[in-house]
Amino acid sequence: MVKNENTSTENVKNLLVEKGVKPSFQRISVLKYLLRENNHPSVDTIYKNLVPYIPTLSRTTVYNTLKLLSEKEVISTLTINDTDLRYDFINEPHDHFQCKTCNAIFDVKVGVDISGLKSIDGHQIQEIQLHMKGVCRQCLKEKN
Ligand SMILES: [Zn+2]
Ligand SMILES: [Zn+2]
Repeated sequence: MVKNENTSTENVKNLLVEKGVKPSFQRISVLKYLLRENNHPSVDTIYKNLVPYIPTLSRTTVYNTLKLLSEKEVISTLTINDTDLRYDFINEPHDHFQCKTCNAIFDVKVGVDISGLKSIDGHQIQEIQLHMKGVCRQCLKEKN
């Protein structure tokens, strides 16, 4: 996601209503977390960060909320590794760089915009995800 979203409860609530999602307290909390942290979290990350504030929250609720939000195209799922499912708010199209050392995922812009591409070699494109992997700025600094 490419930051500077207004993360007030009111705004997040409106966003859900706009997309046809009933804005329950837990759904608002999950989406708010995604918008605020901009860290491409996993189900576990969201759960661990929210459960101190919402003791009734379960991993299943977080998972179901994320599933619903991605069906409604509020958020997208990133499957950079088979085992590591992450979530991202949909606004501007952007690409991702994942650090192999610390596992952090960064938003990047490659500059070549292929987001409007509808087909390639006769195949119909429905989703485009570009994933780069390597060593992030921070880990490079720590190595030297
Ligand atoms: Zn992203
Ligand atoms: Zn790193």
